[in-house]
Amino acid sequence: MCKCLLCQEREATKKGSHIIPSFMMKRINSIDGRNERDHELGFSIGLGTVETYFGRDIYEERRREFTDDESRIEDRTNLDVMDNVFCPDCERLFSKYENRYCTTYGLPFDKDLESNTMVTAADAALFWYSVIWRVSATEHNDVKLNSVFEEKLRRAVLHENVNGMDVYYSLNYCKNYREDNPTFEFFDCNEDVAMLIVDEFMIVLFNGKEATQSGKEIWKMAFKCDVAKLNNGSKPEEIAIFPKVVFKQINDSILFQLVRRIDFKGKFNAMHRHLFGSDMPDFIYQEVMDEIQRAKLGDRFTVLNYSLSMKRVIQAHPEMYKVHFLES
Ligand SMILES: [Zn+2]
Repeated sequence: MCKCLLCQEREATKKGSHIIPSFMMKRINSIDGRNERDHELGFSIGLGTVETYFGRDIYEERRREFTDDESRIEDRTNLDVMDNVFCPDCERLFSKYENRYCTTYGLPFDKDLESNTMVTAADAALFWYSVIWRVSATEHNDVKLNSVFEEKLRRAVLHENVNGMDVYYSLNYCKNYREDNPTFEFFDCNEDVAMLIVDEFMIVLFNGKEATQSGKEIWKMAFKCDVAKLNNGSKPEEIAIFPKVVFKQINDSILFQLVRRIDFKGKFNAMHRHLFGSDMPDFIYQEVMDEIQRAKLGDRFTVLNYSLSMKRVIQAHPEMYKVHFLES
């Protein structure tokens, strides 16, 4: 058995560990706005694909709105849960941070800048460091912080101490955004700057004073902040309130760039060269892209849909492609 990622001492015997706290995951895309466990519908965004998962109690009828893939109709996997990465003691530590921080949703969020009076400054910082550290250490979004940054967070979380860390964060919140928009979980970093979007929160974390002035870009957003305005666990956490239109712009822009990053053109050309010895003609490529869009949202950005779409388009052009497909 592997050692626990946090303490690096005890055996990682814990099963069903949440990487993103369940009190947040259950708000993400929860069906009918029900904040209950097992009612969630999630999209896990990887490099090139988007996996959909459903909470255990999402009925077949609702699942069919999002997928035509029969194997997903019965599937009860929750992509946000991992086995054998932490020990029970460290898992209890995460729960402690989460139980304290979840009260934050009870703040009124009726000013431009809300002071988090629900938890101590240190508990607020430790909560966010524990989430970001878990996302990075488990490579939950296929992205990892640099090792110095990650180790700094690990030590703080493990020893419950944020003193002298030289780490700063800005926290933004968009109240009621999920009433009209899907929310998701997304993480990325650029050297000593990291960004996490989860539910209606967006946090930007800086490793060191210098990083706060570096203007490093993540998904075409450049981050530069004055240390005095940032949180670091030594004074009450301040949460800046985003108008819905701003948060929507950020989310839409990331999703748009994500889909562009998939490099469909390169991938389909490679597949086409492999099968037929030449690049995919432009009009065939366009037809394949249209075909991909026709799939239901939960199926759209999956490898299965990419290959089925290409197969259908090729079958529709027997004059160009003298191939037979085995029925499956
Ligand atoms: Zn441990």
